[in-house]
Formats: sequence, C-alpha cells, structure tokens
Amino acid sequence: MDLTTLERLPLWIGGRAVAAHTTRYGEITNPATGEVIRHVPLADAVDVDSAVDAAKAALPAWRAAPALRRARILMRFRDLMQTHKSDMARLVSQEHGKTAADAEGSITRGIEVIEFATGIPHLLKGDFSDNVGTEVDSFSLRQPMGVCAGITPFNFPAMVPMWMFPVALACGNTFILKPSERDPSMSMRMAELLDEAGLPDGVFNVVHGDKEAVDAILLHPDIKAVSFVGSTPIAKYIYETGARHGKRVQALGGAKNHAVVMPDADLAFTAEALIGAGYGSAGERCMAVSVVVAVGDAAEPLCARLAERARRVAVGPGDRPESEMGPVITCAARDRIMGLIDRGVAEGATLVVDGRKPVVPGHEQGFFVGPTLFDHATAQMAIYREEIFGPVLAIVRVDSLEAAIALINANPYANGAALFTRSGFASRRFQQDVEVGMIGINVPIPVPMAFYSFGGWRNSLFGDLHVHGMDGVRFYTRGKAVTTRWPDDGSAAPGFHLPTLG
Ligand code: NAD
Repeated sequence: MDLTTLERLPLWIGGRAVAAHTTRYGEITNPATGEVIRHVPLADAVDVDSAVDAAKAALPAWRAAPALRRARILMRFRDLMQTHKSDMARLVSQEHGKTAADAEGSITRGIEVIEFATGIPHLLKGDFSDNVGTEVDSFSLRQPMGVCAGITPFNFPAMVPMWMFPVALACGNTFILKPSERDPSMSMRMAELLDEAGLPDGVFNVVHGDKEAVDAILLHPDIKAVSFVGSTPIAKYIYETGARHGKRVQALGGAKNHAVVMPDADLAFTAEALIGAGYGSAGERCMAVSVVVAVGDAAEPLCARLAERARRVAVGPGDRPESEMGPVITCAARDRIMGLIDRGVAEGATLVVDGRKPVVPGHEQGFFVGPTLFDHATAQMAIYREEIFGPVLAIVRVDSLEAAIALINANPYANGAALFTRSGFASRRFQQDVEVGMIGINVPIPVPMAFYSFGGWRNSLFGDLHVHGMDGVRFYTRGKAVTTRWPDDGSAAPGFHLPTLG
C-alpha cells in the first residue's frame, strides 16, 4: 500500500488532529470509480486509551457547565453544519456513493437532532414534590453517565453519529466516536466544526478503526455507555460484551422492512413511494423497504407499475445531478448482492427486473448494481430471509391483511413496516398488531423526527432504550432521587426504624 502519496486521516483527540499510534491502515475507496482515495488508521488500544484520557480530563468542567451553556455551543455547531452542508454532502457522496442530494437530506435529519439537543435545559428538568413527609421534600435529577462512546455504520456517516453525540454532549457527557472505517472523513469535519463552535478540548474525540478499536472501547473500564448502530451479529456482540464489562449499551442492528399494499391503495402513489424506499441510496438504508407484501388483487397492477418505474431509475455516480441511485459501498458488497440475486433465481422467484449488468459509462470500475425486482418470493427464500442491503425489492403475495401481519411478526427483524391503504380500519389494525418499532401509514420510510425516538424491536435492537428523543436523554443520563429535611434545632432525630416520613 502506498502511504506516501495519498492522504492519511489523523485521529481527533483532545481538541486537535493527531497522528495515530497504530501502524495498521485501511483503504477508503470511491465506490463510483473503484479508486482508493485516502487511507484510514485502524486504531489500537493505545489510541483508544489516549482518547479516553482526553475525554476523562474534559469531563469535570463539561458536566459542571450549565446546560444552557452547553446548548449554546450546540446552537453554534448547528449553524456551522447548516453553512457547510453542501460541501459535507459531497464528501459523504464521494466516500459512500449515495447521491449528493440524498447525502444532504441525511445531514438535515442529523441537524434536527442537534436542534432537539439544544432544548436540553428543558429536557433535563426533574420532578419536585414538596412535603412528601412532614417538612420533607423530594426531587429528581438526571446526571451524565461520564465518558460515552458511539460506534457507527457506513451507510449514514453523518446522520447516525448525530443520532448520538449531540444528545450525549448536551447531557454533560464527553464522547468518543468510532465511525465506520469505510467513510470516516465526515466525522473529522464534524470534529472540526464542534471545535469552531467553541466545544472545549477533549469533549468530543474521534478514533478510527475496526474490531481492534471497538474491542478496546468495549473493554475500557472508564467508558460508561456505548451506543452502536450496525449489522445484527455485531450489534448482539457489542451488547453482550459491553454489558459483561459493566456498560450501559444500546445496539441497533439490521433490518428487513416490509411494505404491505392493500387492494384499495392508490397504486400510482404507492409504486412511486416504494421505488424511492427500495432503491434510494442503493437500498443501503436500515429503513429501506426490501419486501413488498401485495394483498389480493394489488399484486398484478403493482408489479407492473414497479417494473416499469424500476427500469427507468437513473443509475450513476452520486456527484452527477441526474443520478437517482449510486453504487453500493464496496466490491465485496456488490458481489454479495449479485450472489443473492442469483440465489433468488435458483430458488424459483420470478426475476422481473434484472440489475446484474448495470451500464454506467465512464464508471466501469464502480460498484454498481441496477434496480432489481422479484415477484413470487416466499418466506423460505434467501432473498426474503437475508438482509440484502442493496437495490433489490421482492414481492411476496398474500391473501389478506391478517396474513401480511403474521408474516411481518414472524420475521426476526423488526425495524420498520409500512401499510399502503385508504382504509382507516386496516390502518388501525396494522399499527396496533404489527410487532415492529416504527410504523408508516402511506409513509414508506417512517423515520421518526428527532423529538421522537428511533429504534426497532427483536433482532433490530438490543437494549432497552431507542436513540434520540427522550430515550436518548434517558440513555445518556442516570436518575437520582434526593430527599431533604431541614430540621429546626431541637427536632427529634430519626430513630432506628426504616423512615416512613409520616
Ligand atoms: P457493520 O456491523 O459491519 O459495522 C458497524 C460498525 O461495527 C463499524 O463501525 C465497524 O467498524 C464495526 N465492526 C464491524 N465488524 C466488527 C467486529 N467484528 N467487531 C467489532 N466491531 C465491528 O455494519 P455496516 O456494514 O457498517 O452497516 C450496515 C448495517 O448497519 C446494516 O445491517 C444496517 O441495517 C445496519 N444499520 C442499522 C440501523 C438501525 O437504525 N437499526 C441504521 C443504520 C444501519
């Protein structure tokens, strides 16, 4: 590997960019061209120790700062993110492959979490009860956890970290971000902008790397809470290992999101919504729709509309304004997706639109997969069971809404589910009976706004609390209840019995 000519990313520790201790480096590739564009350090335990030391040193002053002062720094950070949004979207597009417009939208969703976190003086307010016993008062506090860490996936290099650190910082914690090693540059831009916004040194740190860095985080005794977003097997590993080492953990995993289409749905609207939800960002969204459950007579006309539109999706590099869909993240990801399409054919699904040979002139080395549509998929097939994480939609045909709900509830993943219908009755039945964390009614990708919490059920989330919203505030704080009495001189002292405060 030529480490001399290409840029080597530093780490961000103690308020500045620092060279890593590790000698291991990985390659960052532009997925639209297949070219290696920079190198990323794969941090070791020494690097993680340095970040923890910086975060620990910064903690006492940061947690003691009034919440409003912390909020004001986040307000400035929010403005800087807004100012630099287009440049950052181009950076995300270059390393991830998604279109610049899509990248910009995801940064906007992240900025909304910063905006939520700026309300922290209100969000941290506790309860107060006077005279719970005679001249005894009680109140509750929420205090920061301490040094927290976030480990994030490649598919949202700006938004997913922003699900975590704005809330963690606002609550008075210091933070170490371990972004995906596939597209880590965005995390450095955010560190620079936090610095420009006036964040004290050491409050936010970035350590790049892979399993070695993650394990150092999970084992470190001074890290008190870990937020993770990524694939299900790693999420389970993070949850179990982190918990075993005494940490509070929330670990969001993979997904297999179903969209149920009733015969009474507006099929033109539904097909257009499903095309965006299935093929946007090349299907590399944890809330992407990958299974279309067509109920009764909806199947034939829906399949025809989806096929016609899928064939017209403009596939191209993310920096080309007319592109609707870019490449997938790596050559290995492309090969895996192609292999799953082959299996779908071999297992008997009907391949209606075949994306295995996309033509993108001038980008022959890019990792492109064309929009792919299967009909007559079944729950036994690999294209149904596995999270493909690529631009592949599979139609499963069922007879009734009840059968559709049973299918969703039997799936091990439970991140999002959507229903397309004009019936209020069907809608209510769906939202009540589907055992999934996030539900959309005529909304294909029901990602909750920042002031609600985001998270799935079953294998899509390990832990008790979802991210951002009030669950985020609860995750990054510990509750404390205080009971006070101010006796006058001469009052009787409490005796040996358990006080009943009566
Ligand atoms: P991934 O699990 O491969 O990686 C996620 C993070 O874990 C990265 O920072 C990576 O460096 C680290 N990691 C990878 N292998 C590891 C190992 N063996 N031990 C310790 N750490 C390891 O996920 P990805 O490919 O980057 O992202 C795609 C996945 O993320 C998909 O499954 C997608 O559904 C999921 N995702 C879920 C959500 C959600 O909200 N539930 C959101 C976005 C992405």
